[in-house]
Amino acid sequence: MSLAFTPVDEIEKIQAELRAGFNSGKTKPVAYRKYQLLQLAYLLKDNEKLFVDALHSDLGRPALESYFLETGASITEVLDAYKNVETWAKPEKPARSVNFMFMRPVTHKEPKGVILIISPFNYPLFLCISPLAGAIAAGNAVVIKPSDSCPAVSSLLTELLPKYLDASLIRVVNGAVPETTKLLELPWGHILYTGSGRVGKIVAGAAAKTLTPVSLELGGKSPVFVDPASDIPLAAKRILWGKFANAGQTCVAPDYVLVPRAFQDTFVDALKTAYDGFYPESDGEFTKIINAQSFARVNGLLQATKGTVVCGGTSDETRRHIAPTIVKDVKIDDSLMSEEIFGPILPIVPVDDLDAGIAHVNANDHPLALYVFSQDDAFKTKVFGSTQSGSAVANETILIPGVTGLPFGGTGPSGSGYHTGKYGFMMFTHLRATIDSPGWIDKVLAFRFPPYTDKNLRT
Ligand code: NAD
Repeated sequence: MSLAFTPVDEIEKIQAELRAGFNSGKTKPVAYRKYQLLQLAYLLKDNEKLFVDALHSDLGRPALESYFLETGASITEVLDAYKNVETWAKPEKPARSVNFMFMRPVTHKEPKGVILIISPFNYPLFLCISPLAGAIAAGNAVVIKPSDSCPAVSSLLTELLPKYLDASLIRVVNGAVPETTKLLELPWGHILYTGSGRVGKIVAGAAAKTLTPVSLELGGKSPVFVDPASDIPLAAKRILWGKFANAGQTCVAPDYVLVPRAFQDTFVDALKTAYDGFYPESDGEFTKIINAQSFARVNGLLQATKGTVVCGGTSDETRRHIAPTIVKDVKIDDSLMSEEIFGPILPIVPVDDLDAGIAHVNANDHPLALYVFSQDDAFKTKVFGSTQSGSAVANETILIPGVTGLPFGGTGPSGSGYHTGKYGFMMFTHLRATIDSPGWIDKVLAFRFPPYTDKNLRT
């Protein structure tokens, strides 16, 4: 399926139309935003099957994964914004301060203007809808630039959004590098970019030229620590599920597992048992690798590994299929440890002890997520307390971005800025500080006015 790209010379016009829509002031009433959010929820609910089919067309993804991780998660996000936007948007008074309380200080939550959201291919619906919900809740106009690698989902969004939402405030721009480059030449109220660090640098550089505030939701190698004293079958199941969902193309997928050397074989046996339960037939439905270039990259990492393949290991270029694969005895300098895998390969990395695992994590970029499997609070505290990461998760894997009420974001090379729920609202909100100072204040503050003489000086 091919995607109709937006002509580059229309992009400025689209932005101008949205600015006019925003300047009309119609997004200011919260009731208007709630109506748009409700419409967005209906868009998703009415067309859920169409989206699941489109996700299958683009990614070959099994329906259950799409319902659970994409359409379901998107509807939850929109309804969370719908239910809470009144509370989020309320002006706030600071704590009382004798010096300033009579100036009536208030923080107002104001929209930033026209927002640009650039989304990646791996969760092409959720990563458009979740920030869109935050941007609408905050009262902004929005351009969405969905992934050009997902033509079915992007086409469906382009067709449905104007049917349900106010097209003077929300538009889709489709395209690849030339269209996105044009978008990035323009000033915006805020840019949210989700994708690779390589393109993230391009986006941040372009945003700097127009002084546009930018948030980057990037990726990285998210490690897993497994405590040998933990519930091993549970750890094995949850790690495999988190790794192989969407064929490993998940920003918070467990990238590799660190285990004490003597425990590796016990853990691999548990992984094999879980694997046989998940994939009883070698040809069950499994998400494909997004494109030929990614297939070559991920397959190249697999072919170059010096570790031992214990499950899977096969690939088929014509179907862009890489079997869910577990590799043990992977060393720190292996191909599988050289970059974010973003594919269905789980390396097991034996280390001398917990301290060696922590030292490895700390010697590399702060990951987007860090996982610990343990029932021992001291173990969890030690790992979380001596590392840095976007989020820190015990005994679970990829669900963290969907947990209502928590911020989601990276740190350092895994990203900057937080979104989902209230944090998405805050990302697209300007906190406008206001005071209204009464005339009598000058009875107290008259000393501030010139002429400056020694008598005015209070020391
Ligand atoms: P990508 O960086 O290739 O593409 C993302 C978006 O950028 C697309 O819309 C694409 O059209 C656009 N783009 C690509 N090249 C560009 C260029 N030269 N100039 C301007 N725009 C350009 O990312 P991807 O491969 O689609 O996504 C995978 C990456 O995203 C992984 O690293 C993953 O970890 C990360 N990711 C992060 C999160 C998060 O929330 N932190 C979520 C999903 C994915």
